[in-house]
Amino acid sequence: MALDAYEQPAGAVDGPAPRRALAVYAHPDDPDLSCGGTLARWSREGSDVHVCLCCDGDKGSADPSIDNEELVRDRRQETEAAGRALGVGAHHWLGYRDGEVDDSADLRARLVALVRRLRPDVVLAPDPTAVFFGLDYVNHRDHRMVGWAVLDAIAPAAANPHYFPGTGRAYQVPVLYLSGTLEPDTWVDITATIEAKAAAVACHASQVGPGGAWLGTAVRQRAEEAGRLGGVRYAEAFRKLALS
Ligand SMILES: [Zn+2]
Repeated sequence: MALDAYEQPAGAVDGPAPRRALAVYAHPDDPDLSCGGTLARWSREGSDVHVCLCCDGDKGSADPSIDNEELVRDRRQETEAAGRALGVGAHHWLGYRDGEVDDSADLRARLVALVRRLRPDVVLAPDPTAVFFGLDYVNHRDHRMVGWAVLDAIAPAAANPHYFPGTGRAYQVPVLYLSGTLEPDTWVDITATIEAKAAAVACHASQVGPGGAWLGTAVRQRAEEAGRLGGVRYAEAFRKLALS
């Protein structure tokens, strides 16, 4: 745990919104929970925000009799609604089944192609080095696999023309934000967009139920905890890497 990082609240005062941001996550509700306030803030400030979802969310239910295809369709609709709440410009669905995504050459090739096409100034992704949260939670395998695949796709694959030739001109992603990290060093102030984040999370009714006041309270409490470390009212925490 990088305790020193907690003593640098200046990290909360992040730079200007990127021209284009690409968030790459495993499940349909992951980006909203992980960085929804940041995406909403950047979108309001003029960023072109893209979200890539690697898995289709087909196993996001404890009900053994649920129709998985119906669940996938519902989750797409929920995600489109959440994207509207945040100001997401486009979703990119890769269509892997939950639990079946790996840091594979297939996934890396598709991510490299997307990165080379969009040429984002910032990529956001889960920190794959976070395995345990506290004493009672193991980070989902899909989150870890997608996190590794993103790291491997942009450092160095997308930047080197010899990797996956035929998927576009090589491109070096300059900045990477890793969420769900145990080593945060950067806090984005989401005070102005906390309600948009709560609204986006509430769109995922198949995951959070009909929502209600408790959900908004939970979202605000989590952002408040990050805000305390970042020195602002509401924040999202990241490990930030400058790759250029
Ligand atoms: Zn997830």
